[in-house]
Amino acid sequence: MKRINKQEPPQWFEDWKRNFKVANNRNAHYKNDFSTDDVDGANRRRRLRENLVDEQGKICCYCMRRISTNSSHIEHFLPKEFFADKDLSYENLLASCNGEGTVVVEDEHCGHRKDNWWRADMISPTDIEAEKIFKYLPNGKINSVRGKTTSNIAQEMIHNLGLDSFHLERDRRQAIEASEVFDDEEYSEEEIRSFIEYYTNKDNGVYVPYCKAIIDCLEEML
Ligand SMILES: [Zn+2]
Repeated sequence: MKRINKQEPPQWFEDWKRNFKVANNRNAHYKNDFSTDDVDGANRRRRLRENLVDEQGKICCYCMRRISTNSSHIEHFLPKEFFADKDLSYENLLASCNGEGTVVVEDEHCGHRKDNWWRADMISPTDIEAEKIFKYLPNGKINSVRGKTTSNIAQEMIHNLGLDSFHLERDRRQAIEASEVFDDEEYSEEEIRSFIEYYTNKDNGVYVPYCKAIIDCLEEML
């Protein structure tokens, strides 16, 4: 998981919530207020997705697959069904990929698989810890980092977000194989550190898909 560096909420989003409250004398909620079935609701959702996708450097908040405004959905980290007071709190809103749809149910992943699952100690992609509780291997597999207090929740997150799905393992392996990790060249420590630097930061506003998986493998080469 790559840590999401949350920015200030977009001005239009905060304005909309404030205006709603003035007009209706209550706080707006995601369902039925923000996300309505009409054109306005669709436009608001699209605009918010656009903000979130850009903020995340165009990768999924959970699996780091490339996403766009059209190939993502608004994900409530704390499920809106249970946390109504946070259903329009920008900190709780992320952009998730759409997984594998309904083709192979067992292989579903990310927001659609997570659905309403939550645990009090689960770790948000906005938390720097999210980069420290998983370990990616050169074959595309993902493990929880053992021997930490977070090992158990990390393992459960892998399962409940489907991060060990066949598609994700395969795609991560391909991304790692296409990186410097599998080059024949013997890189110096300095060169390896510069590759890590490259995968750590956005380039022209985007991250390389599965960047954190590549970084984990590069770090093993130091
Ligand atoms: Zn995803």
